[in-house]
Amino acid sequence: LSDRLTQTFSALRTKGKLSPADVDKTVREIRRALLDADVALTVVKDFTATVRERALGDEVSRALNPAQQVVQIVNEELVTILGGQQRRLEFAKNPPTVIMLAGLQGAGKTTLAGKLAKWLKAQGHTPLLVAADLQRPNAVTQLQVVGEQAGAAVFAPEPGNGVGDPVRVAKDAIVHARSRQHDVVIVDTAGRLGVDAELMKQAAGIRTAVDPDEVLFVIDAMIGQDAVSTALAFQEGVDFTGVVLSKLDGDARGGAALSVASVTGRPIMFASTGEGLDDFEPFHPDRMASRILDLGDILSLIEQAQKAFDEEESRAVAEKFATDSFTLEDFLAQMQQLKKMGSIKGMLGMLPGARGMREQLDNFDESELTRTEAIIQSMTLAERRMPKLLNGSRRLRIARGSGTTVTEVNALVNRFEQAAKMMKTVAKGGMPNIPGMQQM
Ligand code: GDP
Ligand code: MG
Repeated sequence: LSDRLTQTFSALRTKGKLSPADVDKTVREIRRALLDADVALTVVKDFTATVRERALGDEVSRALNPAQQVVQIVNEELVTILGGQQRRLEFAKNPPTVIMLAGLQGAGKTTLAGKLAKWLKAQGHTPLLVAADLQRPNAVTQLQVVGEQAGAAVFAPEPGNGVGDPVRVAKDAIVHARSRQHDVVIVDTAGRLGVDAELMKQAAGIRTAVDPDEVLFVIDAMIGQDAVSTALAFQEGVDFTGVVLSKLDGDARGGAALSVASVTGRPIMFASTGEGLDDFEPFHPDRMASRILDLGDILSLIEQAQKAFDEEESRAVAEKFATDSFTLEDFLAQMQQLKKMGSIKGMLGMLPGARGMREQLDNFDESELTRTEAIIQSMTLAERRMPKLLNGSRRLRIARGSGTTVTEVNALVNRFEQAAKMMKTVAKGGMPNIPGMQQM
């Protein structure tokens, strides 16, 4: 998908300031990426309008690295639409808590019933599964199999007891649950291949009869552009308190998640990621945001661009070392490179996958970098180029000017001299490290 988007972000990477044209170009690519991820057009329009407004605002023009700032804005806005903080199930004050599942046929409701039961059991609950899908001949058996796998009891109409009325079954199940001390009742319902009036009427009837604490709308992540109309039909016909996104193990980009959350305003609560009962987890808006935009890829591209840029600089620096012309000014430039890493650190904090990298970055002490920078900036150009000029009174002046102490100024100058000496040796044999990196 987002090759073009990554290119756009990479191109922004080297810009100090974003022009409105840069922003427009980026927003166009974000729009394209979202449409590719099957996010509904109306949702994309609203979303890009918000991003554009923020990207043109102060926070970006003042940012150290505008491209990263824009990526961050896009990520933040995605997470907001996807529900910000994930929401937990609401449990009834007077058990049993009733959870009703609704959705099209094949969405993954029956499978979810088993997953929820297993998950709740692991937390000490005593769930009862209710077979209120009496539409398909084998639906009851399917739920019984799933219940057995989950180790949960299943309430079903007696075999041969006529066609059965799902509303009646659901009502009986609640009574049964109360008498058997089940604290959670999960009501599986019938779906149709498409949205139809009869399906909605039946689901609404079950809802009225059992007065559920949660109605979970289950939707197949692969549904694509139909997500919006399906979700709206269920919201109008049955209404639901939360959304479960199923089949996220497929290659669906998750655009449906954004569409459904955005048009219904209901939180996505769980993600189903396979046919097995353990392939299930509470929904994480931040992970989904990364998936939709392929943010992981974008970040690594920005980093690669950054690395290429750094290597160029390092080569130039290596030459200076070799020829003994490395100055405190170059040292300052290196510091500023390091500081840019700091803003990457902040952004990585939002991504669950980047833990290893975050630990490395945690070794950078930004405040120390800032003080070092302040010291060098308080020096005159001549002093930066010829540190030998730095006598006692100059050092005192610099300490005052930078809000540090003479001891700190001395330490910096020593470190610089050592680094320059060491690097001179290393430079003859190969690529240097960035001086000060170990100490920082
Ligand atoms: P229902 O009609 O809504 O009850 O849907 P089912 O629970 O019967 O699921 C329909 C099909 O999708 C079954 O073959 C399930 O095994 C499969 N399925 C359900 N959830 C997932 C999922 O998260 N990932 C994958 N790959 N398959 C799933
Ligand atoms: Mg089913």
